[in-house]
Amino acid sequence: MRRYSRRALLVWLGTLGGAVLWWRGVRRVAGAACLSPERQALAARLAEVLGADGSAGLDGAEAPWVLFPVTRERALPADYVPRDLVRTTGGGPAPQGGQLVRRLIVPDLEALVAAARADGITFALYSGFRSYETQRALFESGVRQQLQRGAASLEEAIERANRFRAQPGHSQHQLGTTVDITAPDVDWRLSQRLAETPAGAWLRSHAWEHGFVQPYTPLAEPRTGYAAEPWHLRWVGRPLAALLAADGYLDRTDLTTEDYLLALEGLRDPAPAACPG
Ligand SMILES: [Zn+2]
Repeated sequence: MRRYSRRALLVWLGTLGGAVLWWRGVRRVAGAACLSPERQALAARLAEVLGADGSAGLDGAEAPWVLFPVTRERALPADYVPRDLVRTTGGGPAPQGGQLVRRLIVPDLEALVAAARADGITFALYSGFRSYETQRALFESGVRQQLQRGAASLEEAIERANRFRAQPGHSQHQLGTTVDITAPDVDWRLSQRLAETPAGAWLRSHAWEHGFVQPYTPLAEPRTGYAAEPWHLRWVGRPLAALLAADGYLDRTDLTTEDYLLALEGLRDPAPAACPG
């Protein structure tokens, strides 16, 4: 393995990050002016079912943040920190102690944990809000790990790390409405095995009833760019979560959570025209 000093790594990450941002800016200017026919159709359906204003039943001022399409392409502003963060255990055990989440989601989070408990399932809140700076530190440690595991170049290490960790600003945890939860069957850790446990099955069936969706499914991986995360729950409010569940989003490759959020954004902030051709 080639050795990189921490300083060299930071300089490289900074340069690469700058290049990526520049290229994204170029692409956004080139591609922002049109909506694909698929997304137009989805937006029309969402307008009919959830209302034409694109807020999916949420407070109009909250909707742009709660429904922000945080993806590998779209980042939150580095200085975005929700104002109503509170520390909670979600009403269950918390292996890492109470976590920060937006006050807005606490009732539904507690309701989810309580409903699971009534069905004999124990859930624990593992993590909540993650600041931009924390994301940066986590991503850098992920890149160092990939270099130690034999990535041939820094670019390859970044690419590999990005399958499992978001680049700074690209984590849904910065919203404060996203949580990772765990269960005793996976030793209170974040594990792919959760999907095969009764707790994982319960989440697939019931998370939507409390306004939570699971954006990172195995089938969505080619679209989201992230490995599946059965422990990752994003709160989008009950109306939208119910619609996603009714559409069977967990078992589809053609519609991801991201598609709905982008279509809703299109309703809130209409794009000028359909794509040519
Ligand atoms: Zn997560």
